[in-house]
Amino acid sequence: MILGKQGAGKGTQCMRLSRHYVVPHISSGEMFRAELKSGSEAGQRLNKFMKAGELVPDDVVIDVMAHRLTADGTKDKGFILDGFPRTTTQAEALFDLLAPEGLDLAVDLQVPTEVVLRRLAARRVCQDCGANYSVDSPPAVDWICDRCGGEVVQREDDREEVIARRLRLYEQETEPLVAWYLRHDKLVAVDGLGPPDVVTGRLVQAIDGRLGGAAA
Ligand SMILES: [Zn+2]
Repeated sequence: MILGKQGAGKGTQCMRLSRHYVVPHISSGEMFRAELKSGSEAGQRLNKFMKAGELVPDDVVIDVMAHRLTADGTKDKGFILDGFPRTTTQAEALFDLLAPEGLDLAVDLQVPTEVVLRRLAARRVCQDCGANYSVDSPPAVDWICDRCGGEVVQREDDREEVIARRLRLYEQETEPLVAWYLRHDKLVAVDGLGPPDVVTGRLVQAIDGRLGGAAA
């Protein structure tokens, strides 16, 4: 399981680790979408909360998670989790689901808040296709998307004060989770600063070091 602030490069690194270990990258977003599409009972409950824009309660998240991890023997073949668990209640449920060992490892991908703030504040996104740019690597022509010709803008929720609030929420939410994994001796911290290749190398080294090679 990978923990990291928004803008820490977690999505990119999860994709790379998924390729390296040849296991699925399961993000909470992807998991929720798949469950909604399947029309399952858990999916219908999920739909109710998401439509209302409410926080999805632990028991619903846990249902969806259990469903996803037991499908196709995923939990035996291995996986990378991204965005779940979010609370210690979810962490405990996951532990039970994966008993007797529980989760192999929780990796805290660490990037200082100032750096993340700078990265996110520099981010620009195509309104039409979602392509990512930044003030340091803009599209070739005047904020017109290279890919689709759409307008490239700063997203409303990438404004500095919004980001700062989101990062504070993240800290509050994650602190107990980090403490929980530390207590269970399952936490490893990895420096997330530097080129993506270098960070991937550190992650693989940390994971293999803790899990003794092939397993992930
Ligand atoms: Zn575009």
